Amino acid sequence: MSDCIGCSAALPAPFLDLGETPLANSYVSPEKAQKPEPRYPLAVAYCPQCHLVQLTHRVPPEEMFSEYLYFSSYSDTVVQHARRMVDSLTQKFSLGPSHRVLEIASNDGYLLQFFKQKGIQVLGVEPAANIAEVAVGKSIPTLNRFFGPQTVEEIRGTYGAADIIIGNNVLAHVPEINLFLTAVAQCLSPQGHASFEFPYLKDLLDHREFDTIYHEHVSYFSLSAIQILARRNGLKLFDVEHHPIHGGSVRVFLGLASNDEPVSPALAAMLAGEEAAGLTTAAKYRDFSREVGQLAETLVKMLSELRAQGKRIAGYGAPAKGNTLLNFCRIGTDLIEFTVDRSPYKQGLLLPGSRIPIHAPEALLERKPDYAVILPWNIAKEIVGQQQEFLNLGGQFIVPVPSPAILSPSADNTRTAAVH
Ligand SMILES: [Zn+2]
Repeated sequence: MSDCIGCSAALPAPFLDLGETPLANSYVSPEKAQKPEPRYPLAVAYCPQCHLVQLTHRVPPEEMFSEYLYFSSYSDTVVQHARRMVDSLTQKFSLGPSHRVLEIASNDGYLLQFFKQKGIQVLGVEPAANIAEVAVGKSIPTLNRFFGPQTVEEIRGTYGAADIIIGNNVLAHVPEINLFLTAVAQCLSPQGHASFEFPYLKDLLDHREFDTIYHEHVSYFSLSAIQILARRNGLKLFDVEHHPIHGGSVRVFLGLASNDEPVSPALAAMLAGEEAAGLTTAAKYRDFSREVGQLAETLVKMLSELRAQGKRIAGYGAPAKGNTLLNFCRIGTDLIEFTVDRSPYKQGLLLPGSRIPIHAPEALLERKPDYAVILPWNIAKEIVGQQQEFLNLGGQFIVPVPSPAILSPSADNTRTAAVH
């Protein structure tokens, strides 16, 4: 049994065990189709001492290199979100040319470029050499390092303390969470603020987003857990914003503990909401686990019945979370013939575990399956909008989460037909 990465207490048994699965981003080339893949236990536990939900088995980071392929600027949604974030932070903290912004895991400079345009000083820290190079090419000063205790001296000495430290979708990936947050505190100027954005545990639970659990995501945060983590590392959580991106995210604001910012009404309300919803009790997580089991059963039953009626089913998309879903439900090519994805990097490969082949989106029109299961359900609306031709051919979409449902073929794609 492992210890809590937050408070070091012994962890209780996992509340949800998703079995032994391959890494969600380890897409398989057809030449390796006959070879077995490495599999790792995928299970999550709740620490009753500090409320931190976390994986019980952690895969060494060097075995998870997939993120290195990810260039933030390739996604319009991410870039638009970044631009709005920069405007919002600039206003909230009255930032100007005398201020310094540090971004952790700054990728190709997709976010810092907008601060730079406003004349604000920026520094990126990015561990992937090829991506850091792209940022430097765009004149975004970038340190090619992993952020942590070992980079504090260099950041403070060479660039000076930061007035704002930003980390978007990094916190959940960090196993040494206390060392990381202490380093954040050490890099902040006395009146400085840190802003972290991550998927919100309450949304995950409320909408049964269990498929967002995979090996790269070490922790799943409630605000109750963040508050305790912050305090342990010389920081104070004082404000929060709730955003719809990635199925529900929060952006939290931290200051130095010595700074003693008052807790915002929004944060007080969300903390109370977590308490009322049971997020600080083990029972909540046992209930969630039961719901996930039911979801999987319903989905497999639905697909099996359609197959028994002679219907053909494809997938849409090949996101990492789709692999958690398919592997946990043990769905293979017997139920889903193939999937399609717009990314040329994924086309021609097989999904890890399920070994479902990935084709270009045109395959939906050429092979004419009766149904397509939307694996990136968080952008279902966008996908349905792009695939009118498939619908015109009589095709129908299925969303698996929060409840398996066949989308109504009518023009109003937001309505779903519940399935028994
Ligand atoms: Zn703990």
